[in-house]
Amino acid sequence: MTTKETFRKIADERMEEFYDYLRLQSVSTQHRQIPETVAYVKKMIEKTGGTVQVLDDLGGHPVVYGYFEAASNGNAAKTLLFYNHYDVQPEDPIGEWETEPFEPTVRDGILYARGVADNKANFMVRLNALSALLETEGGLPCNVKFLIEGEEENGSPNLQKYLEKYADLFAADACIWEFGGKDKDERFVIEAGVKGIAYFDVSVESAKVDIHSSMAAVVDNAAWRLVQALATMRTVDNEIVVKGFYDNITPPTSLEKEIVSQLPFNEAATKDIYGLTGDLITKDKEVTPSEALVFEPTLTISGLMSGYTDPGIKTVLPKAAAAKIDCRLVPGQEPEHIYEVLRKHLDDHGFQDVKLELIKGMHAFRSDMTDSFVATVTDSAQKAYGSDTEIVLSPNSAGSGPMYHFYHYLKLPILSSGVGWGNSRAHAPNESIRLADYYQGIEHIAILLNDFAK
Ligand SMILES: [Zn+2]
Repeated sequence: MTTKETFRKIADERMEEFYDYLRLQSVSTQHRQIPETVAYVKKMIEKTGGTVQVLDDLGGHPVVYGYFEAASNGNAAKTLLFYNHYDVQPEDPIGEWETEPFEPTVRDGILYARGVADNKANFMVRLNALSALLETEGGLPCNVKFLIEGEEENGSPNLQKYLEKYADLFAADACIWEFGGKDKDERFVIEAGVKGIAYFDVSVESAKVDIHSSMAAVVDNAAWRLVQALATMRTVDNEIVVKGFYDNITPPTSLEKEIVSQLPFNEAATKDIYGLTGDLITKDKEVTPSEALVFEPTLTISGLMSGYTDPGIKTVLPKAAAAKIDCRLVPGQEPEHIYEVLRKHLDDHGFQDVKLELIKGMHAFRSDMTDSFVATVTDSAQKAYGSDTEIVLSPNSAGSGPMYHFYHYLKLPILSSGVGWGNSRAHAPNESIRLADYYQGIEHIAILLNDFAK
């Protein structure tokens, strides 16, 4: 057995290498340092003892494939796939960083850098776990593959093509997702799926020019058209009333319902963190907040633009108005179908002039909760994090990601394990992980690989 001290020693030996990875400014949306980062990822996998193929024949930033073979006394019939991404979000607003975003800095056991939580530490944790097993146990208990993409922060626009073409290359029995970690109450949260998304641009034009508002006596305007159209989609009691919106939803299984009934939800803390001025919209509803977060689709406004919004007075009828609508989907819901029912809803309510465009669609995914991999991940987490850490399993997260493509082409269960914490600030200034979580995460992955190979 590899000891905690060994995991720590191996991680510390590779810390400078990790810091150099964090120094690479791999901002995908600005295409910064992508070739350098790909070369660096390749070098790190090879240094650990794996082989690499850089796949770049289908457009977009390259996808890195890494492979490690099981030891001769290992179980060569089993393969675990790790999904990671080497790209990061832009660092702005730069003025809000307390230290340089691309210069890793440790303060009080916390490591700060852009991309450290999302997602570079999780990749290093996995490499370190492999290093530990190779060094101290003479080899790996099973085969290990990596898929490391460079466009996750851009919505993974080319990933599906790579998974489709290279499905045989990435074939595996189970997958560990890119993110994961502890929540604000120090529980270790494992998620076995994601919600999907349908994201829309909505717009109205009512005139060629803005008009003096005295003309409101005879002329309608785009702002009214837009807010009235949006208001028909949801009641003041927050019920989505778009006909067909709930079509084809796969009902949760009794096991999924049972699991969700155990999920903690701290209403007071939630209100406090966000400074909410009103009640949760689940108040007086049959569903609990946890059930809503996991099982309920959403339809919400993410942005509104129209007319004069600067200080003071400008009396005007806006010629145009626009909004962004964000729907989080559950298994069974198709983004294209959501487009069709929203379009029909607008037409049926007399809003043919309101334009609707689906600009991003992703399916939801939920792993089979009866799959033995679920217990492998949760039990190994309990061993690594200790009996005083509560392990929380959720059938799917409330957020979205490209899990469905992995399932569609590779047909495997997918669960999360990572080293984020309640204050990781992914995508925000002062992004961080705690080094204690980093060392624990390495141990979790090593135990998980051994248990998975049995
Ligand atoms: Zn991210």
